Amino acid sequence: MKLTVFGEATVSLGGQPVPRVPANFLRIVVYLLLVNAGHSVSRGRLSQVLWSDTDQAHASMNLRQSLARIRKFQEQYGLNLIQGDATYVYLNLSQVKAELLSIDLLDYINFARKGDIDSVLGLCELYKGDLLAQNEQQNSDFDEWLDIERVRLRARRQLQYLALREKPCATKDGVPVALHINAGLAVDLPHIEETGAAGIGLFRTELQFMVAASFPRTAEQFGLYRAVLDAAGEKPVTFRTLDIGGDKVLPYMRNVEEENPALGWRAIRLGLDRPGLLRAQVRALLRAGGGRNLRLMFPMVATVEEFDEAKALVERELTHLRRHGHRLPERVDVGTMVEVPSLLYQLDELLERVDFLSVGSNDLVQFFYAADRSNKRVADRFDTLSVPILRALREIIRKAATHDKSVTLCGEMASQPLSALALVAIGYRALSLAPTAVGPVKAMLIELDAGKAAGLLNPLLDSPAGTVSIREKLKAFAAEQGLQV
Ligand code: PEP
Ligand code: MG
Repeated sequence: MKLTVFGEATVSLGGQPVPRVPANFLRIVVYLLLVNAGHSVSRGRLSQVLWSDTDQAHASMNLRQSLARIRKFQEQYGLNLIQGDATYVYLNLSQVKAELLSIDLLDYINFARKGDIDSVLGLCELYKGDLLAQNEQQNSDFDEWLDIERVRLRARRQLQYLALREKPCATKDGVPVALHINAGLAVDLPHIEETGAAGIGLFRTELQFMVAASFPRTAEQFGLYRAVLDAAGEKPVTFRTLDIGGDKVLPYMRNVEEENPALGWRAIRLGLDRPGLLRAQVRALLRAGGGRNLRLMFPMVATVEEFDEAKALVERELTHLRRHGHRLPERVDVGTMVEVPSLLYQLDELLERVDFLSVGSNDLVQFFYAADRSNKRVADRFDTLSVPILRALREIIRKAATHDKSVTLCGEMASQPLSALALVAIGYRALSLAPTAVGPVKAMLIELDAGKAAGLLNPLLDSPAGTVSIREKLKAFAAEQGLQV
């Protein structure tokens, strides 16, 4: 197999150079190869990467036009390299493998990161053997082939991540970062073992309520919490008390019509106003934690008084159980989610009261920018990786350090390698992620020089000028450092 790395960027088919290759054709092919090892990528992600355009509408129009041109090009040359549907763009790897033989990669020396070029070459090496069998594959049904390739890719990735499982999670310059997982149902429990996570950083107790046909009885709640603690063994589990209301509706609970449910009667507000439900849940949690360490936290707390009230409820339940001769937890740590921006201005008072904090960046970001997280028209308008948000997140971690309290971040951003990079750079040392994100985030972290990342990020956050979104700067840093993000 021959790959020319120098010379004009050309594609030849059957030995004949093809003029006028659609501008983004090579980019798309290489991008798909790099990021998805030849499988599929969502259209949104593809347009974002190819155009780095903050204007989503513009980027997706570019993508639409490029794909239309590629389709024509394919028809003209009888190719079937790229297919698309409304959501995904697929790469027919068996054909692309063949065409790779004649693609000149010069174009990508400027465009692609060094690591990417290596990946392309590595991929070609990897597929050398496959190329021989390619003729048979070309005749097989595309969808079937796609499914098989997907399963293979997943298996290959899992193997890579599995190899990392036992490895301690620390950055290249020796900064330990605890990676926990988010969970909510019994089916999530095997993920603790599979991912090698440090524990469960967020157990969303409302999920049991959301999948049930009626309010789960206390015994059922107890059963689940006990199973969770058993599965976690020595590893810590942080249970969040019921976060219902807002977008988390219980079909069997009388629905209160609200104009702004996200800002309405939800989570701890509902728990404190109708304490019967919260009390029963806390009792089940305390009983399940008998003889062990238990960590509890409250969602959507907006004032220190709310925290005080909720904590007093826990104390009352402890007293009740003690009086009735139940076995109590060895230790109960009580914390709160930081999801409402008002807490940013009560951090000192709050940190004096709590045992720990957990940042719920999904809600914090939506309230911070007043942009509904589930409304597509506005959800992407404000970048999470922006100076105001990162300043706020850094303030939380800095204040917590002065009070010697631990902080975990359990929102979506912890699951994205690029955001995880930013979080570690500003001082976060514990993240709670979707189980599938543990492998990719860990793979990135162990290659990261956290000191260097902090050296890049902190001055950007301290500087009064500059762009609000620093996503591109972080991406450039990751590229320069050869990090997979
Ligand atoms: C959050 O808001 O970031 C969070 C983790 O809570 P949820 O996504 O369950 O609202
Ligand atoms: Mg939340």
